[in-house]
Amino acid sequence: SYVLYHDQIIKNGSIPVDPEDRGYLFGDGIYEVVFVYDKKPFAFHEHFARFEQSAEKLELAMPYDLPTFKKLTEELISKNNIVNGMVYIQMTRGVAPRNHLYERNMQSVVTGFAKSVSLDSIVASQSSGIATYLTEDIRWLRCDIKSLNLLGNVMAKRKAADFDCQEAIQHRDGTVTEGSSSNVFIVKNGTLKTHPSTNLILNGITRQIVIKIAQENDIAVIEEAFSVDELLKADEVFITSTTMEVTPVTNLVGSENQTYKIGPVTTKLQDYFKKQIKKNTSV
Ligand code: PMP
Repeated sequence: SYVLYHDQIIKNGSIPVDPEDRGYLFGDGIYEVVFVYDKKPFAFHEHFARFEQSAEKLELAMPYDLPTFKKLTEELISKNNIVNGMVYIQMTRGVAPRNHLYERNMQSVVTGFAKSVSLDSIVASQSSGIATYLTEDIRWLRCDIKSLNLLGNVMAKRKAADFDCQEAIQHRDGTVTEGSSSNVFIVKNGTLKTHPSTNLILNGITRQIVIKIAQENDIAVIEEAFSVDELLKADEVFITSTTMEVTPVTNLVGSENQTYKIGPVTTKLQDYFKKQIKKNTSV
């Protein structure tokens, strides 16, 4: 396979690994995951706008402009013959003798790869729904940054899997924030509710697209924090992410237990989202 190193696409296995890269030492870096449908990156611009924002929040230098990142993404897709799949791109602050204090003028290290993904598994969980595990959100207070520090998310996902769940739903003191790698929506009386885009969640690109297509189709959306109690009383629950699109939640387990039907609002949004993907690929 071919991978990205700085602004070059090279054969995998030839990237030099520096143990003093701050990505390894401190998780000092950021990343993006872009989905590929029919050989084309989906919502590239939105993803890399967020990448730039994450970089700015951490004072990471952007070594290349967005057209260059786009070109490199497209090259990763074509060189690896990806039809449907994903592109992962990360950027660390770079290499320096280990010291918590960072200098602002460092040379960022960009790496990335592309993988094929079978759409079958996504289709399956989208029609059957998934089980989720309710757990406390133990993460830091800058979840809006798509940083490499994902231990809170990683631990939540492991715990969910231990309870035979595909995803965790996290809450802070009874307020639902987001999944371990997804955003959470509830439907009550036909209206969508999801946590507002604050420091406590990652403002998902899929979340933003779903909010937009809901509003365009006269489905009301309230971006307001909701409680675990509201989650339990919801008519429908679904999660959104780049790799899961719009996936219904059928079970909640953990300190609270609930089951949900896959409802009409969720299935409508799944359809609208598919149309959005088609629009992207027909460009
Ligand atoms: N929240 C978290 C914590 C995530 O890791 C992700 C997926 N990267 C999301 C939400 C969903 O974001 P997106 O729709 O941009 O994939």
